[in-house]
Amino acid sequence: MLFFRPDKESFRHPIIKLNESSINKISAGEVVERPAAVVKELIENSIDALANKIEVSFANGGKTFIKVVDDGWGINKEQLQLSLDSHATSKFRESGLTNISTLGFRGEALPSIAAISKLRLSSISRDAEQAYEINSRSGFSNDIRPSSRRVGTSVEVRDIFKNIPARLKFLRSDKVEGKAIFDIVRAIALAYPEVSFLLVDVTSPERRKVLLDVTSEEDDEKLFNRLKQILGERFSENCMLLSEETSKYKLYGYASLPTNTASSATNQYFFVNRRPLRDRQLISWLRSAYYDFVPRDRYASAVLCLTCNYNLVDINVHPMKSEVRFEEPSEIRGLLYSAVKRALSENGLKTNRALSFKATNSFKLTGKNPYIAESLPEESQNGLNFIMKSEQPHQVDFQQNAKEWMSGKIDQPEVDQEVIAQDRVLGVAKAQIHENYLISQTKSGLVIVDQHAAHERLVYEKLKLDWKEKRTESQTLLIPEIVELNEIDKDLVLGFSDEMKYLGFDLESFGEGAICIRSIPAILTNEKVVDLIRDVLDELIEHGTKEILDKVVDSVISKVACYGSIRSGRRLSSAEMNSLLRDMEDNPLSAQCNHGRPTFIELRLDEIEKLFGRR
Ligand code: ADP
Ligand code: MG
Repeated sequence: MLFFRPDKESFRHPIIKLNESSINKISAGEVVERPAAVVKELIENSIDALANKIEVSFANGGKTFIKVVDDGWGINKEQLQLSLDSHATSKFRESGLTNISTLGFRGEALPSIAAISKLRLSSISRDAEQAYEINSRSGFSNDIRPSSRRVGTSVEVRDIFKNIPARLKFLRSDKVEGKAIFDIVRAIALAYPEVSFLLVDVTSPERRKVLLDVTSEEDDEKLFNRLKQILGERFSENCMLLSEETSKYKLYGYASLPTNTASSATNQYFFVNRRPLRDRQLISWLRSAYYDFVPRDRYASAVLCLTCNYNLVDINVHPMKSEVRFEEPSEIRGLLYSAVKRALSENGLKTNRALSFKATNSFKLTGKNPYIAESLPEESQNGLNFIMKSEQPHQVDFQQNAKEWMSGKIDQPEVDQEVIAQDRVLGVAKAQIHENYLISQTKSGLVIVDQHAAHERLVYEKLKLDWKEKRTESQTLLIPEIVELNEIDKDLVLGFSDEMKYLGFDLESFGEGAICIRSIPAILTNEKVVDLIRDVLDELIEHGTKEILDKVVDSVISKVACYGSIRSGRRLSSAEMNSLLRDMEDNPLSAQCNHGRPTFIELRLDEIEKLFGRR
């Protein structure tokens, strides 16, 4: 059975042309593989008809019912029948497939959808008095008759794939299909902020669930306002504007600060000439643009719009039009890189509000707390959440506490410095606690800095610059370190000796199965040299091929930075703390360490006041 092959004469048939109904069913398999794809095609038609308002409703994940209503320019009576015919479109231009400015262009969607469902299309053309409708079942339509619409077009699609059980079987649960509809509507709504969208789940008619309700945005900030509504404040308050152009391409949009990443790429939206795409190439370019700023398993969120001349992209490469081919991919990659890099350096010190929210929320007391009055009258509870019960004295050894606090307090603050620093973003250092966190006072609140992470980033950036300019300082070891290695690893490591030299390491062969290290980067203090060398060699051995030299160098630098930076646990003087803050301000990339963790967070005074019930 495994290698069954029909070899009987009875399988031999002449070639015939398929009839239209079979053709449509076949193309439906490609164009509308699931309910969300139907929704996408219908919304695209509404947008092409210049609708300002689009309402989508569905039931049972779209399997039993989908309806898209718009206020676009409509279809006239004579063309209703034609709109359901395959390869019939009003969007064809003489220039053919090279200059496509509409979302649809193949005339395939409506006939494909009609072929696999019960469809009702009702429309009134903008210049007509009377609306008309056409109904079809599995692609066979009946006569056109008057209907009662006042404006635009409405398309109802019922029982998708009921006539093709093989396909129906492949649909996922109602929940999953419903989520896919939600996702596609969100994406299109981001691409068209000037259009209002309403999305309602009507599975249970008594309990309509409004999933999305966004009204049209008209001002200059329309994309930002829309993304705030759709992606939420966590993104809108922690993103940076990207705007970059070349003579042929323009990139505009928003992308997350590196400290505000997600565990998957689902919140990445790309629009090319306002067409939503899920393009693997774009996803991977964005990833490499953030390389070195976010950890390997985290993803930046982004809403990015690329515009260019229509003939520079081929959109006719994917049945669902969700991937494109660029004529000059490297230009677009370069544009994306430089936009992200520029934004990162301009926004380096932008306070990460999400972290601040997280921090404040973690202070909020939840559950039962013995120090909070349990039976306060209603009105006094409002706004007074933190009243302590006086009969339950706080059992704290104040003496002990005060001692600990003082131990971290900085030595004599230098008044001059304070005056200068109070206007700076990271403020004046006031204390060091737990021997790793600096507390500084800013104009609008306080900042907590992770000294190790912050310093590590600074060292990393400096080493990288030194490496680029080939001026890393090195120090000669009094006693060279000898490290044993097998021959294969030894060859590999020595193959990098030139690069390693520029990084400050002097390596040479030391007889069979060993290498000798004569000098190391000057930034390192001697104590952990052996550990570091082992780690660096491991990096070389793991990633070491010449093709990815940059990656190897980065990983070595990152190791050196980690070893060469102030460890947590070291007491810092006031001058040291303040100079760390100033260095961070001068180096905007220091807002997160090179593992993507934040190096500082801000707590704003207004939030602190809220916590104490003062606001
Ligand atoms: P395409 O969008 O590729 O042209 P479709 O099968 O999606 O193909 O639609 C066929 C035609 O029906 C369109 O070219 C358009 O003229 C018309 N049409 C479809 N939906 C609408 C709508 N909502 N408003 C106005 N015209 C529409
Ligand atoms: Mg279409």
